[in-house]
Amino acid sequence: MCGIFGISGHPEAARLAYFGLYALQHRGQESAGIATYDGTSIHLHAGMGLVPDVFTEQTLSNELRGDIAIGHVRYATTGSSALRNAQPLVARVRGMEIAIGHNGNLTNAAQLRKELEDEGAIFQTTTDTEIFVHLIARNMQNGNLEQAVLDACARVQGAYALILLSGKKIIALRDAHGFRPLSIGILHGDSSQDQAFVFASETCAFDLLEAEYIRDVNPGEMVILEDGKMTSVKIPGSETVPVRQCIFELIYFARPDSIVFGEDVYRCRKNMGMQISREMKTDADLVMPFPDSGVYSALGFSQHSGIPYEHAYIRNHYVGRTFIQPSQNMRNYGVRVKLNPVRSMIMGKRLCIVDDSIVRGTTVRTRVEKLRELGATEVHCRVSCPPLLNPCFYGIALSTHKELIAANHPLESLPDLLKLDSLHYLTIEGLLKTVSHPDNYCLACFNGDYPVPCNGCDASSCSRKSA
Ligand code: AMP
Repeated sequence: MCGIFGISGHPEAARLAYFGLYALQHRGQESAGIATYDGTSIHLHAGMGLVPDVFTEQTLSNELRGDIAIGHVRYATTGSSALRNAQPLVARVRGMEIAIGHNGNLTNAAQLRKELEDEGAIFQTTTDTEIFVHLIARNMQNGNLEQAVLDACARVQGAYALILLSGKKIIALRDAHGFRPLSIGILHGDSSQDQAFVFASETCAFDLLEAEYIRDVNPGEMVILEDGKMTSVKIPGSETVPVRQCIFELIYFARPDSIVFGEDVYRCRKNMGMQISREMKTDADLVMPFPDSGVYSALGFSQHSGIPYEHAYIRNHYVGRTFIQPSQNMRNYGVRVKLNPVRSMIMGKRLCIVDDSIVRGTTVRTRVEKLRELGATEVHCRVSCPPLLNPCFYGIALSTHKELIAANHPLESLPDLLKLDSLHYLTIEGLLKTVSHPDNYCLACFNGDYPVPCNGCDASSCSRKSA
């Protein structure tokens, strides 16, 4: 998780980066940062919290000077939640200042960190991103940043969408599998000379800036932007690597108004709901999502099944993610704060709830108990992804096997455990029908087929903790 953004060739680069990060806020709420270059040096401002809390008018107009900027919002999947881990990271490498922002998890991070420390490297953060900084520094003997980045890519394994700023240059790249998204856009000005290039994890950031989406940074591609010119280099060795983009971006993580991996996320989610309805006939009086994540598949489910759609749970939008609260008791409270029922919709009804995924089962269990308390006569559940059976090593906070309810109980026992009359998960085949290029996705969290093994552990014992 995490969102990255970049812009080059705009006098208000920091301000546009601020708005870009605002649009990417759902990708990370722990910290935010922007680095700019003003022709002389890099300026950085980063802090803990949400984008509007981290930056003030004064920071944007006086501190973050320059017409080139990169930005980052963080959701810690490795490394603790602390200011020192906020990004972009800024470092001086052989006399050259660089700023770097990263989305994804490196699977050989622990091994590389140890090797680098054994060679004398001193780390200031616990992020995977700093590993890139050290690798780049080691490979900068001849002062060629692009080559140093490519050499760093040859050492790292796993998931990375990266954005780097150095002098008048922005470098943007995606790992060979293309796990995490990164798109390129153009912001048109009054004349053809007057245009700025933008990069963002998701295209919803372009919409906000009224920039035109051109294309994605391709898996295994490094794009270099300097003086308004864009060049592209293949990361050596990436040609033979299969594309394996993270399908969970389409299921849950990305905003529905984005185009991600060339897919219209809204349409994909609706199709997921329609597909569930095709797979499993349901008798119910109304379909209700667990908002917001279940909304779009519930709409598709309702339109296909003909069962009326209602918002019988209302979401409190001032709550962050309930999912990563430290204790189960607190998570239960978190879910109650987040979702509150509309009593009049529930009494005497046969309900079909739709959610995008079941992780620990907290949301479904606690909210279904409530529906029964309020007089629902039947509660069925439809889930717009297959059972989550394996942890993810590539940057989605599904980090340990033991937390995944579907991985620890026979699937037939789940309706009872979750107090449901029936439960149906979208099948893998059904899910793949909702995307244009079904072979291009990583499905490891469903089928255990890991494109890159996690060094030093296997799927069932992995304990890389989400912070
Ligand atoms: P749980 O209550 O533990 O079963 O979590 C399921 C809820 O968490 C669903 O409503 C999802 O929308 C949401 N969710 C799924 N995956 C993630 C994730 N990686 N991070 C945060 N929330 C998630």
